[in-house]
Amino acid sequence: MRSLDQHTLLFGVVGTPIGHSLSPAMHNAAFEDKGLNAVYLAFETGDPEGIVSGMRAFKIRGLSVTIPLKTSVIPHLDEVDETAEKIGAVNTIVNNEGRLKGYNTDAMGAAKALEEKTELKDKSCLIIGAGGAARAIGFILKEKGVRLIVANRSVERGEGLARALDCPFVPLERLGNQRVDLLIQTTPVGMHPHVDQSPVQEDILHQGMIVMDIIYNPIETRLLKQAKAGDCLTINGLGMFVYQGAEQFRLWTNMEPPVSAMRRVVEESLVRRQ
Ligand code: NAP
Repeated sequence: MRSLDQHTLLFGVVGTPIGHSLSPAMHNAAFEDKGLNAVYLAFETGDPEGIVSGMRAFKIRGLSVTIPLKTSVIPHLDEVDETAEKIGAVNTIVNNEGRLKGYNTDAMGAAKALEEKTELKDKSCLIIGAGGAARAIGFILKEKGVRLIVANRSVERGEGLARALDCPFVPLERLGNQRVDLLIQTTPVGMHPHVDQSPVQEDILHQGMIVMDIIYNPIETRLLKQAKAGDCLTINGLGMFVYQGAEQFRLWTNMEPPVSAMRRVVEESLVRRQ
């Protein structure tokens, strides 16, 4: 057990709601594994200006940023990294002696989780959803040479993302039977407690397709169950979550993240919740 004192470095997650966040368990496990005198807390707030002044005042070294602050915090930062700028969302802030820089590790987290299972270049991919996570995933996959299609419930948001990615858009309700190599589900449909829901019809799934659902609660969503039954290769949201956290740890500490310890504690927390 670590002991906390006047030298303990402060980290945390900001957003609202925050009560179910697994980030404190994951990052505290990482600090413990590396023997760092650091602690990670959850701060429930929707105030982007308050975050930045609080971070400076209390010399908080690093923050994870979640809903609804990923975009609204940007104008308050001193600097934004190029990838986060392109995506238009920040999920990580690094405090370098009072200078605050924003990053987006969701994109890299998703790419790492996918690349564990498959080569990405020249694959075709249907992204379901056009929110913050879909944007992050879309930009990194485009950089990696993936051919994209965006499907979304609201036409305006879907078309906006498709335009930004220079790819086709299909309204979710008129999805039909698209033949793609990869399907990535980024909406909250199927998340606890609505575990019997799926945003797509089963007939879109075909043998050999790779299906990733970025939801991690439950670990296996209805969509992933359907995909498994249809002989697809499935990827749950846990890998993306752990890898985006691992990249945050690297940015904050300049140390190699203890990925196994981080994954283990997240898995244990999820099993306890189910
Ligand atoms: P967001 O910006 O609010 O976007 C939500 C998207 O889901 C929008 O495209 C929205 O469509 C669509 N949507 C919402 N409810 C829907 C419904 N009932 N039917 C069809 N489409 C619906 O949210 P986000 O930040 O992208 O996060 C989305 C999900 O990803 C959340 O469940 C979050 O927990 C998860 N996530 C996971 C990770 C990870 O590390 N695994 C990381 C980030 C996010 P409209 O445009 O029509 O509203």
